[in-house]
Amino acid sequence: MGQITLEGVAKRFGEVEVIPPLDLTIEDGEFVVFVGPSGCGKSTLLRLIAGLEDVSDGRILIDGTDATDASPARRGLAMVFQSYALYPHMSVRKNIAFPMKMAGLPQDEQSRRIEAAAKALNLTDYLDRRPGQLSGGQRQRVAIGRAIVREPSAFLFDEPLSNLDAALRVGMRLEISELHNRLKTTMIYVTHDQVEAMTMADKIVVLQAGRIEQVGSPLDLYNRPRNAFVAGFIGSPR
Ligand code: ADP
Ligand code: MG
Repeated sequence: MGQITLEGVAKRFGEVEVIPPLDLTIEDGEFVVFVGPSGCGKSTLLRLIAGLEDVSDGRILIDGTDATDASPARRGLAMVFQSYALYPHMSVRKNIAFPMKMAGLPQDEQSRRIEAAAKALNLTDYLDRRPGQLSGGQRQRVAIGRAIVREPSAFLFDEPLSNLDAALRVGMRLEISELHNRLKTTMIYVTHDQVEAMTMADKIVVLQAGRIEQVGSPLDLYNRPRNAFVAGFIGSPR
């Protein structure tokens, strides 16, 4: 569970082709980073996978099944938004429970998943607090908790750490990597930060103007950048 295949996926906004047709396969359990400069189409590509935008062309397969026209809820993927997407008036417990409540999960199953997520994210002592009473890092963990309880086949992160300070970012990076090691669930992580890409990814997808410049492991890209853009962006000698 968690293989995602894009076949000729393209996106136009009106006349503007933001993503020319592209092919990409993400294997089950991989940690894949989409990296590229601001405006290159990273968020759009992630939103297409999540089903938050409709493709203009092409197909999206999830575990071999055509999910191109499936609603976001039906895709079994969980998008992790920045921590400010939490509901300020709800407790941490209620924030984490929210997607399960929407899905109509039985109460005891909700409780079981909340306890497990809280334990995994060191939030057990904070379940009755409100987001405003938490640090930035704790709020980000709640946002991740809200994704974990859905038991998705893949997690989709869109620059989740961009509004944390530098020191906190390093810690959260490690936490997300550890979470991936523990869950072994597919993760797609969008960032404009090369260091994040190089330190977190199994596979990096370098994007420029909606096109895939190169796909490879951090070492591949560092040692064998395909062109000057990749070399310059990754910071390898060439
Ligand atoms: P990134 O996440 O890499 O910064 P985006 O995916 O947000 O890039 O944006 C890619 C391009 O698509 C940008 O030129 C942006 O202005 C454009 N774009 C994104 N969303 C829309 C939209 N809803 N309507 C029109 N243009 C959009
Ligand atoms: Mg973006």
